Amino acid sequence: MAEIPLLEINRLKKHFPIRGGLMGGITAEVRAVDDLSFTIARGETLSLVGESGSGKSTVGRTILGLTAPSAGEIWLDGTRIDQLSRRRMRALRQRMQIIFQDPFSSLDPRFSVRESLAEPLDNFGLARGAARAARIHELLDQVQLPHAAADRRPHEFSGGQRQRIAIARALAPRPDLIICDEAVSALDVSVKAQIINLLADIQRNLGLAMLFISHDLAIVEHLTHRIAVMYLGEIVEIGTREAVFAGPRHPYTEALLSAVPMPDPGARHRRIVLSGDIPSPRNPPPGCRFHTRCPYAFDRCRSEAPKLRGPNHHQAACHLDRLPGSA
Ligand code: SF4
Repeated sequence: MAEIPLLEINRLKKHFPIRGGLMGGITAEVRAVDDLSFTIARGETLSLVGESGSGKSTVGRTILGLTAPSAGEIWLDGTRIDQLSRRRMRALRQRMQIIFQDPFSSLDPRFSVRESLAEPLDNFGLARGAARAARIHELLDQVQLPHAAADRRPHEFSGGQRQRIAIARALAPRPDLIICDEAVSALDVSVKAQIINLLADIQRNLGLAMLFISHDLAIVEHLTHRIAVMYLGEIVEIGTREAVFAGPRHPYTEALLSAVPMPDPGARHRRIVLSGDIPSPRNPPPGCRFHTRCPYAFDRCRSEAPKLRGPNHHQAACHLDRLPGSA
């Protein structure tokens, strides 16, 4: 029998109503997430990649119950979680943690590191007394900070060190799944590489599942098992890291990949610069949502929305069988 995925998202939608007019009724809606499906296995990292405005952060917030879905299902380890009461959802939060771009979102500046790390242990009743002290030292070891860091406050650390503390706090309740929402985007290049390596080590050592949300394909290359590319609320390509990097099948992915710097400048195809900004999710283009920016668009693209197709390890939503110029 096939193993149940740790996380399963089925036809998820999140539409935000826009109210207006004299009566304050709903006049339009922002289709932030539109009919999204994917799974994450235990111990697997899936990266959700796309430009700002693609809806990827809304996916993370909806999984965690921070905002309710408009339609669709979210399953964690065989249990449907999108309709749970707040009380049951709060208990489940032990199994799902999030790391934000700004560590101050999860670290109270008035708390010492010890207090910040103790809080989730206390909230979930996980460790007291000497066991709690030992667990805090173990967490600091896992993020490679000295034990002396426990008595300092967040403002005494650099941005990279603060992100290590936020990671330790997310690890405290021993979650099965961590959602990293642009967790390294605000860091300097060298610090970014250190935190990515740390996350990759932690993921491997603890067998964690990870949903890594990023606007930057370059930073997921050494961290992820699979990649899902989002455009205007939809997944346009999904596959293993090897398949997507070796041969993108959607023009949007091709354009994102063409911007990834290569160690050997002659090794990657020409740079594709997309014209214009991502259209508004309030009024997505008909047919293929990417047709207003796609260099290969043809008549059919403007009227018929392509569906994801291809083998399980690599699917794309495009009417083309293969991209011009690809092998
Ligand atoms: Fe471009 Fe058409 Fe493919 Fe959409 S379906 S990505 S517009 S070629």
